Amino acid sequence: MGRRHGWAPLVVADGTPGDARVVLVDTTLHLTAMSLGPVASDGSAAVRVQAGALMEDLLEFLGGQRLGVTACPAPGDLSVGGALAVGAHGTAVPAASEASAAGKDFGSLSDLVTEMTAVVWDDTAGAYVTRAYSRADPDCAALLTHLGRAFVIEAVLRVGQDQNLRCRSYLDIPTRDLFAAPDSGVPAARTLSGFLDDTGRVEAIWFAFTDRPWLKTWSVSPNRPLASRAVREPYNYPFSDNVPEPVARLAGQVFAGAWASTPLLGQLQYLIAKIGLTGDITDVLTSPSVIRDLLTADVLTHLLAGGLRSDLWGASRDLLLYIRPTTLRETANGYALLTRREDVQWVVHQVTGHYSGLLEDYASRGLYPVNGQVEIRVTGVDDPAVCLVPGAQPPLLSAVRARPDRPDFDTAVWFDVLTDPATPGLHSFCRDIERFLFDTLDGDRVTVRVEWSKGWAYTDTAAWAAPDMLTRTIPTSHRIGGGPGWDDARDTLNRLDPHRVLTTSLLDTLLP
Ligand SMILES: Cc1cc2nc3c(=O)[nH]c(=O)nc-3n(C[C@H](O)[C@H](O)[C@H](O)COP(=O)(O)OP(=O)(O)OC[C@H]3O[C@@H](n4cnc5c(N)ncnc54)[C@H](O)[C@@H]3O)c2cc1C
Repeated sequence: MGRRHGWAPLVVADGTPGDARVVLVDTTLHLTAMSLGPVASDGSAAVRVQAGALMEDLLEFLGGQRLGVTACPAPGDLSVGGALAVGAHGTAVPAASEASAAGKDFGSLSDLVTEMTAVVWDDTAGAYVTRAYSRADPDCAALLTHLGRAFVIEAVLRVGQDQNLRCRSYLDIPTRDLFAAPDSGVPAARTLSGFLDDTGRVEAIWFAFTDRPWLKTWSVSPNRPLASRAVREPYNYPFSDNVPEPVARLAGQVFAGAWASTPLLGQLQYLIAKIGLTGDITDVLTSPSVIRDLLTADVLTHLLAGGLRSDLWGASRDLLLYIRPTTLRETANGYALLTRREDVQWVVHQVTGHYSGLLEDYASRGLYPVNGQVEIRVTGVDDPAVCLVPGAQPPLLSAVRARPDRPDFDTAVWFDVLTDPATPGLHSFCRDIERFLFDTLDGDRVTVRVEWSKGWAYTDTAAWAAPDMLTRTIPTSHRIGGGPGWDDARDTLNRLDPHRVLTTSLLDTLLP
């Protein structure tokens, strides 16, 4: 285990009895070393990092040498081994005007690996031994994203020259524009794919029952734009790291049973983000009295104290890391929707349209399964060539492994819904979303894969539980397109750990 910050039961399943024969190895205690190889003439470098090192420590170490990654998960309190195990991701595709550069990678974190050392079974020795694998080794393809069916000691990652980023937040673009159908006549500059073309890096956070998402864009910006505020540390959104008192109070009431107040909670979360980012409090005046009463003068003063945060600039890690473990504890489902770059807007329109229709349908039956937010991010797919190892293998189990038969599927839209884990109706809502994704959306324009660290395989009472999803739909989603895939990964992982030392009950069903 690393920091155990995932949702899927990939370390130990809930309800495992106390006397179960389980050994947990906490890699973050001692496996934390990192060292840098020489910087190549193209500006890229290889960093050797042990699996228990935290992502934020790695990025700080790299930043000190003016090196960095193109994209990474938003929390820094994750172990490198845990992030690689699930094929973690950030949000980035090349902007329309962006030049490629050595070490720039738009796929999963696992796609950066050039070499990996793992503990594997050795028939000759009759024991488990440590073995180093080059990225060109076919066995490495199974180890790059392995869901916890292996024990990785260290990895070498290809990284690039650091880039300064400008991160802007917008809270005034309505969903009918941002998520508009491609042929709706909305100017491209107001659509999600328009922002994507412009900057290459977007995230939409859409609180339930609101119609103006918090849109973030990151653009490569070597020098500080005049309007931007320079930051020198990560985690620049304190109102999302430390749940503000009014949100805690209203959330407390909702979670205690006042589910019909969920739309108010969405509105309040939006307002707090807006005030914390832009300092604009005008919406408070027109908001319902419950919200006005919660947003007291003291609360507003506190929110405004840190200054404006809607236009920030700095070294990449200071803008790419923005979630602390103190953030509101929610559960999340997660999917990667592989598609053509020109279909991103269509995919986003389809998914958001279905989500809001479903939310209304549930509300009309008195059910409010979502009290958090939808999060949408966009990445490229894995491109093994980027790591510069001749013959590099793709991470077989990565949600964004490219389909060999569909080179036009060059982009992935990541779609998550976050909500309190005890919310009534949550599982059936997530099951309905999942059915829509796999039964309706998946096809000629989209390939749907699950996001390993999050919720999937829903029944109407549980996640990671639907037998058909676990044994048929998910494997099929990784077999599609031909080439080495699901079965090769499973067989390799079984050969490297024939005694099934490294497994969980979920993995025993998924990867028997
Ligand atoms: C608030 C929050 C925000 C998140 N945001 C993002 C995001 O932006 N992008 C994203 O991609 N993910 C995100 N995640 C998910 C996160 O990246 C994964 O859950 C990741 O696996 C967590 O790392 P960890 O160190 O906590 O791993 P753990 O949860 O401890 O372990 C995860 C898996 O990795 C295995 N593992 C850990 N170390 C090793 C090792 N050395 N060798 C082999 N297997 C190992 C474990 O056995 C387990 O199977 C987020 C999670 C949270 C809670």
